[in-house]
Amino acid sequence: MEHRLVTYGCLSILGASIAGAAADIHSPGDVATVLGATFAAYVLSDLGTAVYHWAVDNYGDGNTPVFGRQIAAFQGHHQRPWTITQREFCNNVHQVFQPALAPAAAIFALGPFVPLGLHAFMPSFLLLVCMSQQFHAWSHMKKSELPEVVVALQDAGVLIGRKQHGAHHKPNFEGNYSIVSGWWNPLLDNTQFFRWLEHRVVDATGVEPRCWYAPDHEWAEQVQPGQ
Ligand SMILES: [Zn+2]
Ligand SMILES: [Zn+2]
Repeated sequence: MEHRLVTYGCLSILGASIAGAAADIHSPGDVATVLGATFAAYVLSDLGTAVYHWAVDNYGDGNTPVFGRQIAAFQGHHQRPWTITQREFCNNVHQVFQPALAPAAAIFALGPFVPLGLHAFMPSFLLLVCMSQQFHAWSHMKKSELPEVVVALQDAGVLIGRKQHGAHHKPNFEGNYSIVSGWWNPLLDNTQFFRWLEHRVVDATGVEPRCWYAPDHEWAEQVQPGQ
């Protein structure tokens, strides 16, 4: 129940922000601005999820302040990837909608005072980042388990698909971090962007990322019961 309250509460605030931006459209130029901003949010949310996913996969643990729960959840997902497909929608996504509540409220309050493009971009970006938890779950499901529209969007490359995300689930979990469209994965992986970033982190803090080493057996993928 609380999961539903958090999820639909946050969705309503973000929806109200997007509606607010739409209500501010007064010319064909405004339409182009809002569409452009929404598309930019879609493209950049994929990059955002890649950076966030890379960070929580590689640094910290369950005891890390603020992000500990998310870090443990991502590590647990590598061990038991099938459980994400067994969760009901609100149960799955509330983990991201909960920390997004305060930013969503701030975006709603700020919306009327910023330029139209930003008014449309901010809630769209946050919505897509939160929904990536569901896009990710869909990428773990068989096509026969998914609504046709989701399969069509995956096949068209609009949403991350099973094959591309499956490539992430190989030790040492060192690439294919994007989980909205997956558009950024080839660029980030082919340029070795995250290896470069990891070296910058080592230079600055001395901390090495988890993906430089084979996972401890306690973090390795387990076998799904009954398979
Ligand atoms: Zn991961
Ligand atoms: Zn996964």
